[in-house]
Amino acid sequence: MSVIGIDFGNEACFVAVARAGGIETIDNDYSLRATPSFVAFGERQRVLGVAAKNQAVTNLKNTIFGFKRFLGRRYDDPRVQEDVNKVPFKIMKQDNGGVGIKATYLGQEQVYTPEQLKETAENGIQAKVHDCVISVPSYFTDAERRALLDAAQIAGLHVLRLINETAAAALCYGIYKQDLPEPEDKPRNVVIVDCGHSAIQVCVCAFNKGKLKVLASTADPNLGGRNFDAALAGHFCVEFRSKYGIDPENNPRAYMRLLTEVEKLKKQMSANATKLPLGIECFMEEKDVTSSMCRADYEQICASLFQRVEVVLQKCLDDSKLGLNDIHSVEIVGGSTRIPAIKQMIEKIFRKAPSTTLNQDEAVSRGCALQCAILSPAFKVRDFQITDVQPYPIKLIWDDSLGEDGATEVFPQYHPVPFSRMLTFNRKFIVNFKNDDADPRKLKIKARVNMHGIFSICNATIYEKIENGENPEEPMETEPQVVPPAGDNPAPTNPPDSQEAGNGNTTASTEPMDNSENTDANATSADVNMEDADKKKSKKVQYKGKELPVESVTFGLSRPELDEKIMSETHMISRDRNEKDRIDSRNTLEEYVYDLREKLDMELNGFVEDSERQKLSETLTSLENWLYEDGSDEKKEIYVQKLEELKCRGDPIKERRIESEDRPRAFKEVEVTL
Ligand code: ATP
Ligand code: MG
Repeated sequence: MSVIGIDFGNEACFVAVARAGGIETIDNDYSLRATPSFVAFGERQRVLGVAAKNQAVTNLKNTIFGFKRFLGRRYDDPRVQEDVNKVPFKIMKQDNGGVGIKATYLGQEQVYTPEQLKETAENGIQAKVHDCVISVPSYFTDAERRALLDAAQIAGLHVLRLINETAAAALCYGIYKQDLPEPEDKPRNVVIVDCGHSAIQVCVCAFNKGKLKVLASTADPNLGGRNFDAALAGHFCVEFRSKYGIDPENNPRAYMRLLTEVEKLKKQMSANATKLPLGIECFMEEKDVTSSMCRADYEQICASLFQRVEVVLQKCLDDSKLGLNDIHSVEIVGGSTRIPAIKQMIEKIFRKAPSTTLNQDEAVSRGCALQCAILSPAFKVRDFQITDVQPYPIKLIWDDSLGEDGATEVFPQYHPVPFSRMLTFNRKFIVNFKNDDADPRKLKIKARVNMHGIFSICNATIYEKIENGENPEEPMETEPQVVPPAGDNPAPTNPPDSQEAGNGNTTASTEPMDNSENTDANATSADVNMEDADKKKSKKVQYKGKELPVESVTFGLSRPELDEKIMSETHMISRDRNEKDRIDSRNTLEEYVYDLREKLDMELNGFVEDSERQKLSETLTSLENWLYEDGSDEKKEIYVQKLEELKCRGDPIKERRIESEDRPRAFKEVEVTL
């Protein structure tokens, strides 16, 4: 069993594996480390990764890419809408408001899963993969995180943790640094900038030996390499319209080719400031197009995009509340941080040249593999604690249709994650649960952001007075109280409903369950303590707590939907395998035919009777023709059968030759022994 880390990028995915000797990034079946985040649906099969990207221009409508941006989003979401008309494949609204990607594969819509990565990993390390850590952008919402977990489940992956991409890179930095300050000393503050294909993310981390704490984290989810490509493509479209009278923007295939070319040009311009050529043969309407550009032009065309980079960097510095002197260094990862203008922007804001301690392309996947090794019991890795931050404030909002509207903030922005918190409310209605008493009842819930960054209400308890034997009407002595877990938190001195939150009859109080340094495991043990304490208290304070069922309705897939997708994925995998087997058996037959034909005229000549050679040669010719005509698309069994028949005739000839070669050799050996 191996543990792996996956960086699921918008453009490309990287998979790293933890081994006894360290972390290693795995090659895919094309001997490349980057596997394009592409999936293509064909008439018979689905292809993934490099193969899918390679056939994109010829199968435009059924080649799906950039889907990381659609994961867990609704069709009406502005981010989805922005892309709807730009991508060559069809995106539609599903009944539940979600995004459906239409591709012609057995006439069904398909949802992408990271299955390919699992296979890549399994092939690369020759072992079954089960446990993994997958990275997600720091700005991913609850729904997006849930959707990725669903996808991983469909792929049969067991996710030990979803980790923010910047945190994964930070872990990679921290774990190898031998000179970090001692835990009680002033931390070393390092900025991590990750600018990839579709987004830029920045975070400031405070490092000490064995731990890191994210202080601030900002992002622009719509600003990455693809935006620079689009700006450049837009520029050339205008130029080509006036120069050649063509309109590539309205020709998806031409536009796709243009994007590929400008991306190449963009990369060249990162290394070269001089004027560079752009040329595409037979681009549109049989016309060849040519142009050129230098870095200064490019920076001018993309000026507004670079300004947006500045905003994200500046905000992160401001949010961290650190002065420039408190920042030790700025580490860059992600393909687009190779752009000189972005490096300059980093230097302008942080007054430090960016450093490249980390592997720009692989740091995130390697960080994931490290985290997976830390979490897996199969590995003995020094622990490194990560305290990340909650990217958005989390509020509980009550439905005003029941006359009890209100909201209470459970976790503010930048609250440490993972974390649990107890809240106590006085309410008449508890979602769908109607409290029969006229008086509001006390409700206690445990809200939690887990180590995946996913919010949930883990349990809810409603309290009722228990009758006191001697005097049933006797007023309560004490309120149910939250008892802090064994830890550093002092016991709350106020009764739980002493703070007003929301309005009307909503009251709430919150007490942190675990201190911010706690890991998820600690949080769990704290929960247990809490529950024990509750039971004891309930008895003493004349309250009886009744656990309420908690049902959450989220945008993720329901269990039956998930099962259906798992089934359909299993089907697709077996189809893909069958198709691969079919093609492989066709290729094996073809190879055998060619091999035998060549050898019949050469080294096998003399080991076969002339008449048989003649007949065999005729069979080979007719088989060759058949393979390219009627037999080009046959069932696997037919190819296998034809191969067997042919082998019955070809193999004995080959064997005769081997025997005749071995005979003199055997004699020689005998001579030597004698
Ligand atoms: P994301 O993190 O947004 O999900 P990703 O992780 O797939 O995407 P990366 O692999 O980090 O993205 O980066 C890919 C982007 O980097 C592409 O847009 C590519 O054009 C760009 N890029 C790669 N090398 C260079 C370079 N030398 N100069 C400019 N841009 C580059
Ligand atoms: Mg990335």
